[in-house]
Amino acid sequence: MTDAPPVLIILGPPGAGKGTQARMLEEDFGLIQLSTGDLLRAAVASGSDAGLRARAVMEAGQLVSDEIVLAILKDRMAEPDMARGIILDGFPRTAGQAAALDALLAASGQKVAAAISLEVDDEAMIGRISGRYTCAACGEGYHDSFKQPARAGVCDKCGGVSFTRRADDNAETVRERLRAYHIQTAPLIAHYENMGVLEPIAAMGPIARIQQELGTVLCRVTA
Ligand code: AMP
Repeated sequence: MTDAPPVLIILGPPGAGKGTQARMLEEDFGLIQLSTGDLLRAAVASGSDAGLRARAVMEAGQLVSDEIVLAILKDRMAEPDMARGIILDGFPRTAGQAAALDALLAASGQKVAAAISLEVDDEAMIGRISGRYTCAACGEGYHDSFKQPARAGVCDKCGGVSFTRRADDNAETVRERLRAYHIQTAPLIAHYENMGVLEPIAAMGPIARIQQELGTVLCRVTA
């Protein structure tokens, strides 16, 4: 191993809180949150060739091809800010992506420092996702039932007044996303367990308690 910056993974089904927790780790530990979902949504919005190919797949709640995801990820990982360390959110999602990541890191004498698995009840995920929305300006997350801004219609964090909902955050697509997770992504938990880097976290409780547990893991694996 080198003293290269850590590469961490957050695993878990849609709605488990991967994005929320990854953003907090970015703020608390200076790591860069790298979300393939965000990169793909940006590609769709830009109208790039990859975005056009990904769009219908994402709207159906299925997984975009490894080829497209890996190309987008490698471009982003080549940027200089990655030297601060990375928290991968929503990647890898298939055995092929996990193998590609292992090979990419091995080329520079690195390996995944920890794969944090957020453990949740599937049934609760549909309700969690169906009500969520984000501030269009800063990306802060909210929820119709669990977390409204203190002042209705105004982001607590940046004062923004415009909010967005993801096109794939509806009950039908969420069921398909959960199905894809169980078939293609959940088997990766065993992969990281075999590598000795799996860190399971019970993630149905309060966000702050989960954040604290993640912080403890981060301190240990990046020490
Ligand atoms: P997320 O924002 O992580 O929930 O991802 C939203 C959607 O983007 C997923 O339902 C997939 O269609 C696509 N996606 C994101 N990351 C990946 C990935 N690593 N592999 C394949 N598809 C992905």
